Amino acid sequence: MKEIIDCHTHCDFSHDSTAPARDMIESALAKGLPYFAITDHCDKDCEVLPGYEYIRQIDLPRRFEEIVRLRDEYRGRLDVAVGIEYGWLAAADPLYIEINKQYETDIIINSVHLVSGEDCYFAPFFDKRTRREAYTEYLQDVSASVDAPYDYDVIGHIGYVIRKAPYEDKVMRYADYSDLLDEILRKLIAKGKALELNSHAEGTGLDFLPEPDTLRRYRELGGELVTFGSDAHAPENIARNFDLVCEALKAAGFKYMFKYKAHSPVAIKLD
Ligand SMILES: [Zn+2]
Ligand SMILES: [Zn+2]
Repeated sequence: MKEIIDCHTHCDFSHDSTAPARDMIESALAKGLPYFAITDHCDKDCEVLPGYEYIRQIDLPRRFEEIVRLRDEYRGRLDVAVGIEYGWLAAADPLYIEINKQYETDIIINSVHLVSGEDCYFAPFFDKRTRREAYTEYLQDVSASVDAPYDYDVIGHIGYVIRKAPYEDKVMRYADYSDLLDEILRKLIAKGKALELNSHAEGTGLDFLPEPDTLRRYRELGGELVTFGSDAHAPENIARNFDLVCEALKAAGFKYMFKYKAHSPVAIKLD
């Protein structure tokens, strides 16, 4: 039987989820997952910039205590991986370096949510820019995030900027941004970091991010490390589109996807 995993999920320790961690874990169990990572937001990017006080910062000590306790409680039934999702911003680098010293994790996702210091989840970001400017600035920040000076395992949801983009055709195609995407993909491969396939893509015209041509290009360049993340913020979304992502990976020439334990990639055969 195929092993269903999920390397990117949130619970109510994240500012944008109301789901208790136990509910997420019980849902993962009910869906038959043997491995499940909880990767709550740690948004120091929003802490170091003015104007983002409305983003509730994670209570790190309480959060790690709770997730480690649940991991131990469910051991033998479900492999709960302790993860975190960092919101990249160069000015927050020193804070993430310190957090990495303080807490043991299995998987760290490095993600760009602020583009040029602005939240690309809201309309004003797009009002000031052309589509090409918006997507180019986003990819420039993703490229910089790959070079972050702290340890991480995965670059999250490449193409995130399209989730709330106000265009009829939102897709950021490889052919239109090949220079920047190649730069990002080559660096991922050289640094041994994983490309995430993120199935939180409702309303984008895609089943997952990044779009399939970018995935194919990563493989063509020699990329092997890929993870699956639903980015679920509620129990019902755990492992959404997992089968579609597996099919796309196989079609692009991948034989494995990976989960992370203590920052080591563990291969899972596709099919
Ligand atoms: Zn994210
Ligand atoms: Zn997330």
